[in-house]
Amino acid sequence: MNNLIKDSLTKLKRENINNPELELRILLKHASKKNNEIFLSNLNLDNINIVKFKSYLQKRINREPIAKIINSKSFWKNDFYVNNFVLDPRPETELIIEEALNIYRNKKLKLKILDIGTGSGCIAISLAKEFKNASITAIDISKEALEVAGKNLKIHNCYNQIQLKMIDFKYINSKFDLIVSNPPYLTNGQYNNLDPEVKNFEPKLALVGGDDGLKFYREYSNNINKLLNKSSYFICEIGINQRQDCEEIFENSGLYLNKSVNDLQGIERILSFSKI
Ligand code: GLN
Repeated sequence: MNNLIKDSLTKLKRENINNPELELRILLKHASKKNNEIFLSNLNLDNINIVKFKSYLQKRINREPIAKIINSKSFWKNDFYVNNFVLDPRPETELIIEEALNIYRNKKLKLKILDIGTGSGCIAISLAKEFKNASITAIDISKEALEVAGKNLKIHNCYNQIQLKMIDFKYINSKFDLIVSNPPYLTNGQYNNLDPEVKNFEPKLALVGGDDGLKFYREYSNNINKLLNKSSYFICEIGINQRQDCEEIFENSGLYLNKSVNDLQGIERILSFSKI
């Protein structure tokens, strides 16, 4: 194995980075002048832009997540542009899409959908691709996040289905068939204990939901009932051990919990509500 590769692996391992070989291959691929598969054992360094590679490696050693370095993260069936102003789409959030598909079996439905706190736009765009006749309002209070979502709308050619708006949820007043959200739900304490990859490179605005993490669910519950029809659904992501609190919060606003979905670690992660 080439010395540059050996040294790079040693550096990544020293930082206790999981899957150092895999990450190294991704960084090399991103710095590659060709679109070949990267094999660490017999790599032709002539095909690699070494200056670029070294800068990516240094970023990773500084604990910048891979997705932020390569400005791309896969979610559901597509790749999304990401930067420091949005959360990297996470696999557990894909369960929101899965749940929407469980509820609405007919993909041709003309659903009216609201995505609160759209961030990169990954939920809204994935739903738009699944439900080709849906019209989606995707809102956020972060101008920078909306710029990222706008870029993803362009990449995925979703302008005809998705409208982006910089607006606070409390000012929304039309009816929707489906409301989805992955709100900030970490407590301040949890935030302080996050890995540097998340804490130093992802927006706090998208992570922390007040002292107990439940701030946004409370805000939603004040307003959400009047935005839903009798047969509408609300699907949201929650943090660890928040199911019971969320169930109570939304019960007080006339919604009942249909289903709670566990993520791959067995944590209750996605709740789907409808009107009582
Ligand atoms: N699951 C994310 C994390 O733990 C938090 C996402 C969120 O607050 N919506 O990093």
